[in-house]
Amino acid sequence: MKAATMNLRINVLGARGVGKSAIAVRYLTKRFIGEYSSGLDISYQTTYTSGDGPVKVDILDTSCQDDCQASCHDVYDADAFVVVYSVTDTDSFAEARRQLDNIRSQSQACAPVLLMGNKLDLDHARKVFPSEVEQVAEENSCQHTEVSAAECHVLIVNSLHSLIADTVSALRH
Ligand code: GDP
Ligand code: MG
Repeated sequence: MKAATMNLRINVLGARGVGKSAIAVRYLTKRFIGEYSSGLDISYQTTYTSGDGPVKVDILDTSCQDDCQASCHDVYDADAFVVVYSVTDTDSFAEARRQLDNIRSQSQACAPVLLMGNKLDLDHARKVFPSEVEQVAEENSCQHTEVSAAECHVLIVNSLHSLIADTVSALRH
């Protein structure tokens, strides 16, 4: 029997300028454009093929930072989350921790979360170190990876596919 199509929503959260839009666009098009419109939440649709059939994935690239204004989506209403920080910016990691706390205290408290350090190409200017991040990831039961939206799409694609697969499996069981 053909499996029913599953729909899932992934929200991409994080401080302004960390590369949320660059990551979403890289995942969807494999391209790095360099400049992205800001100030608007952008929703993208794609299809992921799992072993059990197609999964329609809605990716919300969020833009509102300082707790949501009325016009914004409920950024904590999703099946899974990508929380982005920049490896060059400690403030962005503090914001990622705040977002993790918010996710874990909302209704989607158990949702799969991928904590993604971006701008790995700027490793020479690194301010956020993996040991610190891995501890936070463990405390919050989330996956952690470091990527460069500017330099390479493979890690972004692989880690997002892994997040989608985990989410599908969590929703099916
Ligand atoms: P957002 O506000 O989180 O959506 O951030 P954007 O995706 O708009 O990116 C902010 C800026 O960082 C832009 O100028 C991007 O070109 C730049 N950027 C994004 N990802 C990377 C990266 O991996 N490396 C470098 N060096 N710059 C990046
Ligand atoms: Mg953006």
